[in-house]
Amino acid sequence: MKEPTLNAEPAVQRRLLDLQDLDLQLDQVAHKRASLPEHQALKELIAEKSVVDRELVTADTEVSDLQREQKKADSDVEQVRQRKARNQQRIDSGQVTSPRDLENLQHEIGSLDRRISDLEDAELEVMEKLEAAEAVQTDLRTRAEAFAGRQAELETTRDAALKELDEQRAELGDKRSTVAAELPEPLLAQYQRLRERNGGIGAAPLVGKRCMGCRMELAPSDLNTIKAAAPDAVLRCEECGRILVRTSESAV
Ligand SMILES: [Zn+2]
Repeated sequence: MKEPTLNAEPAVQRRLLDLQDLDLQLDQVAHKRASLPEHQALKELIAEKSVVDRELVTADTEVSDLQREQKKADSDVEQVRQRKARNQQRIDSGQVTSPRDLENLQHEIGSLDRRISDLEDAELEVMEKLEAAEAVQTDLRTRAEAFAGRQAELETTRDAALKELDEQRAELGDKRSTVAAELPEPLLAQYQRLRERNGGIGAAPLVGKRCMGCRMELAPSDLNTIKAAAPDAVLRCEECGRILVRTSESAV
Protein backbone atom coordinates (compact mmCIF):
# COMPACT_ATOMS: atom_id res chain seq x y z
CA MET A 1 0.00 0.00 0.00
CA LYS A 2 1.35 3.41 -0.92
CA GLU A 3 1.52 5.59 2.17
CA PRO A 4 0.18 9.16 1.76
CA THR A 5 2.59 12.09 1.94
CA LEU A 6 1.96 13.96 5.15
CA ASN A 7 2.89 17.28 6.64
CA ALA A 8 3.58 18.14 10.26
CA GLU A 9 5.52 20.89 12.04
CA PRO A 10 9.14 19.88 12.87
CA ALA A 11 8.37 20.04 16.60
CA VAL A 12 5.40 17.72 16.08
CA GLN A 13 7.58 15.34 14.05
CA ARG A 14 10.14 15.26 16.85
CA ARG A 15 7.33 14.54 19.29
CA LEU A 16 6.67 11.41 17.23
CA LEU A 17 10.13 10.22 18.29
CA ASP A 18 9.07 10.60 21.92
CA LEU A 19 6.05 8.43 21.14
CA GLN A 20 8.30 5.87 19.47
CA ASP A 21 10.54 5.83 22.53
CA LEU A 22 7.55 5.28 24.85
CA ASP A 23 6.22 2.51 22.60
CA LEU A 24 9.56 0.71 22.74
CA GLN A 25 9.56 1.02 26.52
CA LEU A 26 6.02 -0.40 26.57
CA ASP A 27 7.17 -3.24 24.31
CA GLN A 28 9.98 -3.96 26.74
CA VAL A 29 7.57 -4.04 29.67
CA ALA A 30 5.29 -6.41 27.76
CA HIS A 31 8.25 -8.61 26.89
CA LYS A 32 9.45 -8.69 30.52
CA ARG A 33 5.90 -9.46 31.62
CA ALA A 34 5.65 -12.43 29.26
CA SER A 35 9.14 -13.75 29.91
CA LEU A 36 9.38 -13.58 33.69
CA PRO A 37 11.55 -16.53 34.78
CA GLU A 38 8.81 -17.40 37.29
CA HIS A 39 6.44 -18.31 34.43
CA GLN A 40 8.75 -21.07 33.19
CA ALA A 41 9.73 -22.16 36.70
CA LEU A 42 6.07 -22.45 37.69
CA LYS A 43 5.21 -24.39 34.56
CA GLU A 44 7.96 -26.93 35.28
CA LEU A 45 7.15 -27.07 38.97
CA ILE A 46 3.43 -27.64 38.39
CA ALA A 47 4.23 -30.46 35.96
CA GLU A 48 6.50 -32.14 38.52
CA LYS A 49 4.03 -31.49 41.30
CA SER A 50 1.16 -33.09 39.40
CA VAL A 51 3.19 -36.29 39.02
CA VAL A 52 3.82 -36.39 42.78
CA ASP A 53 0.17 -35.52 43.49
CA ARG A 54 -0.97 -38.42 41.35
CA GLU A 55 1.51 -40.77 43.01
CA LEU A 56 0.25 -39.60 46.39
CA VAL A 57 -3.35 -40.44 45.45
CA THR A 58 -2.18 -43.95 44.51
CA ALA A 59 -0.22 -44.25 47.78
CA ASP A 60 -3.23 -43.06 49.82
CA THR A 61 -5.39 -45.70 48.17
CA GLU A 62 -2.80 -48.38 48.80
CA VAL A 63 -2.46 -47.43 52.47
CA SER A 64 -6.21 -47.48 53.05
CA ASP A 65 -6.54 -50.81 51.22
CA LEU A 66 -3.80 -52.31 53.39
CA GLN A 67 -5.35 -50.84 56.55
CA ARG A 68 -8.55 -52.65 55.66
CA GLU A 69 -6.59 -55.83 54.96
CA GLN A 70 -4.84 -55.51 58.29
CA LYS A 71 -8.12 -55.12 60.18
CA LYS A 72 -9.43 -58.18 58.40
CA ALA A 73 -6.27 -60.15 59.27
CA ASP A 74 -6.50 -59.03 62.91
CA SER A 75 -10.10 -60.12 63.18
CA ASP A 76 -9.35 -63.44 61.44
CA VAL A 77 -6.69 -64.21 64.04
CA GLU A 78 -8.93 -63.04 66.85
CA GLN A 79 -11.82 -65.28 65.74
CA VAL A 80 -9.66 -68.39 65.66
CA ARG A 81 -8.10 -67.51 69.01
CA GLN A 82 -11.54 -67.17 70.54
CA ARG A 83 -12.58 -70.50 69.12
CA LYS A 84 -9.46 -72.10 70.55
CA ALA A 85 -10.14 -70.45 73.93
CA ARG A 86 -13.72 -71.80 73.95
CA ASN A 87 -12.42 -75.31 73.27
CA GLN A 88 -9.79 -74.96 75.96
CA GLN A 89 -12.44 -73.70 78.37
CA ARG A 90 -14.61 -76.73 77.68
CA ILE A 91 -11.71 -79.04 78.40
CA ASP A 92 -10.71 -77.12 81.53
CA SER A 93 -14.27 -77.04 82.86
CA GLY A 94 -14.30 -80.80 83.08
CA GLN A 95 -17.72 -80.96 81.44
CA VAL A 96 -16.42 -83.02 78.56
CA THR A 97 -15.96 -86.48 79.95
CA SER A 98 -16.01 -88.71 76.85
CA PRO A 99 -12.39 -89.56 75.92
CA ARG A 100 -13.34 -89.46 72.26
CA ASP A 101 -14.81 -85.93 72.57
CA LEU A 102 -11.77 -84.84 74.51
CA GLU A 103 -9.49 -86.22 71.88
CA ASN A 104 -11.48 -84.45 69.18
CA LEU A 105 -11.25 -81.20 71.08
CA GLN A 106 -7.50 -81.57 71.58
CA HIS A 107 -7.14 -82.38 67.93
CA GLU A 108 -9.12 -79.30 66.95
CA ILE A 109 -7.03 -77.12 69.26
CA GLY A 110 -3.95 -78.43 67.50
CA SER A 111 -5.28 -77.52 64.08
CA LEU A 112 -6.48 -74.14 65.42
CA ASP A 113 -2.92 -73.46 66.62
CA ARG A 114 -1.57 -74.14 63.15
CA ARG A 115 -4.31 -71.94 61.67
CA ILE A 116 -3.46 -69.15 64.14
CA SER A 117 0.19 -69.43 63.19
CA ASP A 118 -0.65 -69.17 59.48
CA LEU A 119 -2.98 -66.24 60.05
CA GLU A 120 -0.37 -64.47 62.19
CA ASP A 121 2.14 -64.88 59.39
CA ALA A 122 -0.38 -63.35 56.98
CA GLU A 123 -1.09 -60.57 59.50
CA LEU A 124 2.62 -59.84 59.83
CA GLU A 125 3.01 -59.74 56.08
CA VAL A 126 0.18 -57.22 55.76
CA MET A 127 1.70 -55.11 58.55
CA GLU A 128 5.04 -55.05 56.77
CA LYS A 129 3.40 -54.07 53.49
CA LEU A 130 1.42 -51.37 55.29
CA GLU A 131 4.55 -49.95 56.92
CA ALA A 132 6.29 -49.82 53.56
CA ALA A 133 3.27 -48.17 51.92
CA GLU A 134 3.04 -45.65 54.76
CA ALA A 135 6.72 -44.80 54.34
CA VAL A 136 6.14 -44.14 50.62
CA GLN A 137 3.04 -42.11 51.45
CA THR A 138 4.92 -39.98 54.00
CA ASP A 139 7.74 -39.35 51.56
CA LEU A 140 5.34 -38.34 48.80
CA ARG A 141 3.36 -36.13 51.15
CA THR A 142 6.55 -34.34 52.22
CA ARG A 143 7.48 -33.83 48.59
CA ALA A 144 3.99 -32.63 47.66
CA GLU A 145 4.08 -30.14 50.53
CA ALA A 146 7.53 -28.92 49.49
CA PHE A 147 6.23 -28.40 45.94
CA ALA A 148 3.20 -26.53 47.22
CA GLY A 149 5.45 -24.29 49.32
CA ARG A 150 7.76 -23.62 46.39
CA GLN A 151 4.78 -22.90 44.16
CA ALA A 152 3.39 -20.37 46.64
CA GLU A 153 6.82 -18.69 46.82
CA LEU A 154 7.13 -18.48 43.05
CA GLU A 155 3.61 -17.12 42.72
CA THR A 156 4.37 -14.44 45.28
CA THR A 157 7.57 -13.42 43.47
CA ARG A 158 5.80 -13.49 40.12
CA ASP A 159 2.88 -11.42 41.39
CA ALA A 160 5.23 -8.83 42.87
CA ALA A 161 7.12 -8.60 39.57
CA LEU A 162 3.86 -8.34 37.61
CA LYS A 163 2.58 -5.62 39.91
CA GLU A 164 5.72 -3.58 39.38
CA LEU A 165 5.54 -4.06 35.61
CA ASP A 166 1.86 -3.14 35.61
CA GLU A 167 2.71 0.08 37.40
CA GLN A 168 5.41 0.84 34.83
CA ARG A 169 2.98 0.03 32.04
CA ALA A 170 0.31 2.32 33.51
CA GLU A 171 2.80 5.15 33.92
CA LEU A 172 4.16 4.76 30.38
CA GLY A 173 0.61 4.41 29.05
CA ASP A 174 -0.34 7.76 30.60
CA LYS A 175 2.70 9.44 29.07
CA ARG A 176 1.95 7.85 25.73
CA SER A 177 -1.64 9.10 25.76
CA THR A 178 -0.41 12.62 26.42
CA VAL A 179 2.08 12.51 23.53
CA ALA A 180 -0.33 10.76 21.16
CA ALA A 181 -2.93 13.48 21.80
CA GLU A 182 -0.46 16.05 20.44
CA LEU A 183 -0.05 14.25 17.11
CA PRO A 184 -2.34 14.63 14.09
CA GLU A 185 -4.39 11.55 13.42
CA PRO A 186 -3.03 10.72 9.91
CA LEU A 187 0.58 10.89 11.17
CA LEU A 188 -0.26 8.71 14.14
CA ALA A 189 -2.04 6.19 11.91
CA GLN A 190 0.86 6.06 9.46
CA TYR A 191 3.33 5.59 12.30
CA GLN A 192 1.24 2.75 13.74
CA ARG A 193 1.06 0.98 10.41
CA LEU A 194 4.79 1.31 9.83
CA ARG A 195 5.57 0.23 13.38
CA GLU A 196 3.54 -2.94 12.98
CA ARG A 197 5.21 -3.70 9.70
CA ASN A 198 8.76 -2.93 10.81
CA GLY A 199 9.41 -4.78 14.05
CA GLY A 200 8.07 -2.12 16.38
CA ILE A 201 9.86 0.88 14.87
CA GLY A 202 7.75 3.18 12.72
CA ALA A 203 9.72 6.40 13.10
CA ALA A 204 13.42 7.07 13.48
CA PRO A 205 15.68 10.10 13.65
CA LEU A 206 18.21 10.98 11.00
CA VAL A 207 21.51 11.05 12.91
CA GLY A 208 24.34 12.36 10.79
CA LYS A 209 23.64 10.73 7.43
CA ARG A 210 22.22 7.61 8.99
CA CYS A 211 18.60 6.49 9.42
CA MET A 212 18.48 5.11 12.95
CA GLY A 213 15.60 2.83 11.96
CA CYS A 214 17.60 0.67 9.55
CA ARG A 215 21.09 2.00 10.47
CA MET A 216 21.80 2.62 6.80
CA GLU A 217 23.69 5.67 5.64
CA LEU A 218 21.61 7.58 3.14
CA ALA A 219 22.82 8.04 -0.42
CA PRO A 220 23.98 11.59 -1.25
CA SER A 221 21.08 12.01 -3.67
CA ASP A 222 18.58 11.10 -0.94
CA LEU A 223 20.29 13.50 1.46
CA ASN A 224 19.98 16.21 -1.16
CA THR A 225 16.26 15.46 -1.51
CA ILE A 226 15.91 15.77 2.27
CA LYS A 227 17.84 19.04 2.30
CA ALA A 228 15.50 20.40 -0.34
CA ALA A 229 12.34 19.24 1.41
CA ALA A 230 10.09 21.64 3.27
CA PRO A 231 10.64 21.56 7.08
CA ASP A 232 7.09 20.33 7.64
CA ALA A 233 7.27 17.54 5.04
CA VAL A 234 7.06 14.14 6.72
CA LEU A 235 9.95 12.20 5.17
CA ARG A 236 10.42 8.49 4.70
CA CYS A 237 13.65 6.53 4.67
CA GLU A 238 14.33 5.32 1.14
CA GLU A 239 15.90 2.16 2.55
CA CYS A 240 13.40 0.98 5.16
CA GLY A 241 10.31 3.08 4.53
CA ARG A 242 10.09 4.35 8.10
CA ILE A 243 9.21 7.93 8.93
CA LEU A 244 12.52 9.76 9.03
CA VAL A 245 12.62 12.69 11.44
CA ARG A 246 15.13 15.49 11.10
CA THR A 247 16.73 16.58 14.38
CA SER A 248 19.58 18.88 15.44
CA GLU A 249 21.85 15.86 14.94
CA SER A 250 20.89 15.42 11.28
CA ALA A 251 23.55 16.19 8.67
CA VAL A 252 21.20 18.20 6.47
ZN1 LIG B 1 15.82 3.49 7.34
